[in-house]
Amino acid sequence: MTTGDNRLQRAERRALQREDEKYLSQPLNPGPDPRSISAHVRHVVRLFSNPSEDSPCATAMAHLGALYSRTVPKAQVACRRGCSSCCSQLVSVTAPEALWVADTIRRRARTVEKLRAADAATHHLSIEERLKSHLVCPLLEDDVCSIYASRPLGCRHFVSINLDACIATFVHGAEPQIPMPVSHTDVLYAIRMALYAAMRLKGLKDAAYELNAAVMAALAYEDAEARWLAGEDIFADVPGTRTIPPNFEQAISQLVAHIAPTV
Ligand code: SF4
Repeated sequence: MTTGDNRLQRAERRALQREDEKYLSQPLNPGPDPRSISAHVRHVVRLFSNPSEDSPCATAMAHLGALYSRTVPKAQVACRRGCSSCCSQLVSVTAPEALWVADTIRRRARTVEKLRAADAATHHLSIEERLKSHLVCPLLEDDVCSIYASRPLGCRHFVSINLDACIATFVHGAEPQIPMPVSHTDVLYAIRMALYAAMRLKGLKDAAYELNAAVMAALAYEDAEARWLAGEDIFADVPGTRTIPPNFEQAISQLVAHIAPTV
């Protein structure tokens, strides 16, 4: 039964939450049955709304990061610890990802200074110039990601099945042609869709930003996450990096319309 505005009543939402639990520790099923992705979207909406969480964004992104790792098929990738040549690209993040990274490095003075310097060197560049700059990510330390557990979804997804192609692209400057497992891209697409749907259902802005600038914006406030979750656009001065393609937009809108009465 739904209320007058077509939303489920509280008891029905509780029953649905119990039903959702069955899906939350499983890999994402991105097939035509929407129950798996719907369960994860509702879960992320609940996490964004949970005042007892120290960092709802960290908890939500940790959930989605773990879901990504659990869902991608085991592929023969060429990536190894210490192989970091790809960490010289523009990284796009959503606000919850930037807030998680800021939360991770806020007390690491040296890392914050590196990030501040990197942002100062690139903040004035257009996105096209930034894409061509190939500057090493300031979060890379001794060829290892210093925020590995909280790295953005785009970084989790960037894997190669051919080391020679990476060296040609990132060391010798050839046109980028990195062979990536198609299955990984499909999973990233589905998980980003879940994240965007959850942000929209919470009334949060779902823009994508350049990593360094967005994290610096979040570091400007001790209570950055609380402000953003309350609707303050603390990223207003950070340039956006990408627009949502029409087919992705349509898929997100359909998912939001499907789930809205149940949250
Ligand atoms: S955040 Fe980590 S994985 Fe991503 S580009 Fe920077 S160092 Fe590499």
